[in-house]
Amino acid sequence: MAWAQAPQTPPGGANALSGANANAPFDFRIEPVTRDLYKAWLQRQIPVVTVFLVTSDGIILADPISPEFSARLRTELASRFPGKPVKWVIETHYHWDHARGGAMFADTATVLGHENLRTNLRLPIAEAPPPGDTTDLDGDNRLDRNRESQTATRAQFDMLDKDHSGLISQEELVADVRWPGIVFTDEYTITLGGQHARVIWAKNRHTSDMVDIRMTAYSSLSDYS
Ligand SMILES: [Zn+2]
Repeated sequence: MAWAQAPQTPPGGANALSGANANAPFDFRIEPVTRDLYKAWLQRQIPVVTVFLVTSDGIILADPISPEFSARLRTELASRFPGKPVKWVIETHYHWDHARGGAMFADTATVLGHENLRTNLRLPIAEAPPPGDTTDLDGDNRLDRNRESQTATRAQFDMLDKDHSGLISQEELVADVRWPGIVFTDEYTITLGGQHARVIWAKNRHTSDMVDIRMTAYSSLSDYS
């Protein structure tokens, strides 16, 4: 398959997708990367981004990011690609800033991840820590706000501390991550609507469960962490 068609700006401009005034700062945006491949991003202090491939039989989505992100994405996809449900969700690794939110698509999608993802979702925090420098220093399988939580985990402490106990437990860290229904060892190819997404174990780059995704012949994503 050739990607002959140049990326197109959606009718009304990119801001039209967010429902925002064209002159207002955007919040959530969908942009074409190349034909049938799009990225969805939310502009925050640190922007969050994922990608999805639209096929004739539905959509293959990479990281669902978070419940809030997925809820917004689902609404946008239903509007822009009616009749094309998300059929696959690829959780690229266990970190909370990528893997949460898959339940939003559970009615139509299979969730895929590396076999070590299942392991990491059950390991103590000390063995499968959150992104950045956060560590469970005292080995109690919980994170306090000021001494153990660092970087993004500290910034999002109140969101992750679901029971407002003042500590983030291992269960709270993974609470919004959908358990992968299919896992693989080295490589898995999703075929949908005549298109393909190759999901390849990244061999301990970043995390032990990290995967790269190659969507059809001319779309390659790597170092996606
Ligand atoms: Zn990560």
